[in-house]
Amino acid sequence: MGDLGEVVGAPAAEGHKDIFQQNKMPLLELRDIHKTYHLGGETIRALDGVSLDIDSGEFISIIGPSGSGKSTLMHIIGCLDSPTSGTINLDGVMIHNASARQLASIRNKKIGFVFQFFNLLPKLTVRQNVELPMIYSGFSSKERRERAMNALESVDMEDRSKHRPSQLSGGQQQRTAIARALVNNPKIIFADEPTGNLDSNTGERILQMFDKLHTEGKTVMLVTHDPDIAAVTPRRIEIRDGKIANEIDPKLSGQTPRFNIGTNN
Ligand code: ADP
Ligand code: MG
Repeated sequence: MGDLGEVVGAPAAEGHKDIFQQNKMPLLELRDIHKTYHLGGETIRALDGVSLDIDSGEFISIIGPSGSGKSTLMHIIGCLDSPTSGTINLDGVMIHNASARQLASIRNKKIGFVFQFFNLLPKLTVRQNVELPMIYSGFSSKERRERAMNALESVDMEDRSKHRPSQLSGGQQQRTAIARALVNNPKIIFADEPTGNLDSNTGERILQMFDKLHTEGKTVMLVTHDPDIAAVTPRRIEIRDGKIANEIDPKLSGQTPRFNIGTNN
């Protein structure tokens, strides 16, 4: 047995703290995450031992066929759901057994979501939709309006702020949803099949927008079954039957990208 006291440079209690601060932790650290559903006597292992680190500023895609566990993974990392077992550290906070109320608060401050079907509230204007995540933020109505308009400007939607979602194209609805995801300045943005309901050109514009957010320093995770979409991100993680695949399937590696977003060619 080695004498721990003689480990080279073994720091005093004070020194420990410094070492941990120097070794920057990843933004997200998942260890052996399982999510099991029991349905009609059947056990479904939606996630079956997922471990993953994501650093601040990464642009990453989660790719895999339908039913492989992508959305389940995104919901768990995004504080919409909790794992059956395993640990998750998000931005220094262990979230795997947080209460629903704690998760809601973390989600509101740290996470932005973009969904395939936009999920805008039809009775609210574009600006009101973007203001929604700020309801509990303590901002005055004037501040909320200003921040919403800034977010809308960043997605070139400031001239549609008074429209209702039904008066917008699909691409404009998705840009509004991106503005809503950005407005609380989240640590990470999740986009689940964000171009799934858009034509190819409009989809490309939306992917360019995520790329721009990434170059501005945001952490962005795209969830997709489409290799051409995964091809736009520098890092890709393939998930199959609830597990992370060791090697990405060459067929999924997007050799001939359909989307031109600037950084992949
Ligand atoms: P993906 O997003 O990759 O298409 P999901 O994460 O939605 O896959 O689903 C993974 C697996 O878990 C699928 O077999 C799905 O049927 C199952 N599943 C997802 N949600 C539930 C649920 N609430 N109850 C039971 N099974 C579920
Ligand atoms: Mg899904």
